[in-house]
Amino acid sequence: MSLSEDRRIPDHVTVAIVGAGPAGLGVARVLRDLAIPDVWVLERGRIGQSFLRWPSGTRLLTPSFPVNVFGLTDLNAISYDSSPGWSLKREHPDGGRYAQYLEQAALAFGLNVACGIEVLGLEPHGEGLVLRTDRGEIGADFVIWACGQFGTPSDGGLIGAELARHYAAVGRWQDVPGDEVFVIGGYESGIDAALGLARAGKRVTVLERGAAPWQDRDKDPSRALSPFTRQRLDVAMKGGAITLIDGAEVVALEEEPGGIRILAGDGRSWLSSHAPILATGFASGTAPVSGWFDYDETGLPLLTPQDESTELPGLFLVGPEVSHNGHLFCFIYKFRQRFAVVARAIAGRVGADTSALELYRANNMYLDDPTCCDADKCLC
Ligand SMILES: Cc1cc2nc3c(=O)[nH]c(=O)nc-3n(C[C@H](O)[C@H](O)[C@H](O)COP(=O)(O)OP(=O)(O)OC[C@H]3O[C@@H](n4cnc5c(N)ncnc54)[C@H](O)[C@@H]3O)c2cc1C
Repeated sequence: MSLSEDRRIPDHVTVAIVGAGPAGLGVARVLRDLAIPDVWVLERGRIGQSFLRWPSGTRLLTPSFPVNVFGLTDLNAISYDSSPGWSLKREHPDGGRYAQYLEQAALAFGLNVACGIEVLGLEPHGEGLVLRTDRGEIGADFVIWACGQFGTPSDGGLIGAELARHYAAVGRWQDVPGDEVFVIGGYESGIDAALGLARAGKRVTVLERGAAPWQDRDKDPSRALSPFTRQRLDVAMKGGAITLIDGAEVVALEEEPGGIRILAGDGRSWLSSHAPILATGFASGTAPVSGWFDYDETGLPLLTPQDESTELPGLFLVGPEVSHNGHLFCFIYKFRQRFAVVARAIAGRVGADTSALELYRANNMYLDDPTCCDADKCLC
């Protein structure tokens, strides 16, 4: 086992998993339970790097609670037998603490993790694939792409976006200059930014192009604000520091003597004395291997029922970009249910015993029929 930067990775592995976040480590654990040999997780930074880069004070929205002993799994756990709620003693851990849980999990599961190695691309090679990394080439029978999206902030094609600062580039809200700050985008990260800025004593205006997400009644948390965010927003709104404006489609930012002019498509505009915060989401984390995926009209990779690329057999995807028939698997408790699907596909090809997967099914960590996730199953 290795969590170090200098451990020598074999020239050829059975499975190379790219990214040591919850998706990469979670699927590595399932492969370990199936006794697949030579599984390596390659990480360009440290374990849980995306969480380490979250703004300070940002917390997981989904609650952690040690319910595993009752046959339920902590919503933020990457395995049925671990619980960040129990190990971190926090219901809504911050990014740094969640990264600690991931590191403990990698050690406890006995995973091979090589940190400080960046995968730059891959090619088919003979029966398998070859990864191009900043430390040379590595051959693999299978590759699982688990790079998430946090490393690829999106400016949504906004004209003048270089005058703003993306949410993912903020370390501490108190360091954002100005007493009055504009936030462009009003979904989870936009409201999280507003809450952090208000806590730091600033007045905040949130500009959201759509109908107010803070009033949306959609039952799927991938499409509406989480209860944790709504609850915090209700409290913060009473303080009067946050103004929410919906139906404001920001189309351009322009520099002018007094600051930065924020222009909406309907002719309205606002003057911001400092760089506004862009909470416009994230692009696909598959960029280094985009030539090996097909994408739908919304930019999501097209996948087989086993979450394999439709373009390159042997290349699988795990994590928040997995989607099937309009169902988004963009929370940990959702995408962890597909690890066993990928593991079964690989095990089938190498002839490994898959009986251990029954434990995953029994623990609600094996979802091979996504039609069961319809949001209208919730009555009240
Ligand atoms: C503010 C915020 C709050 C959130 N709250 C929640 C929540 O409450 N509950 C929830 O379920 N989800 C939440 N999410 C979403 C959750 O963080 C992501 O879905 C999750 O991190 C995805 O896991 P992952 O392993 O796919 O990606 P990541 O956690 O991003 O891990 C990907 C890893 O891949 C590495 N990597 C990237 N490219 C390369 C490369 N080329 N070579 C090698 N390594 C590479 C990165 O360094 C990183 O460590 C939140 C996200 C944000 C931004």
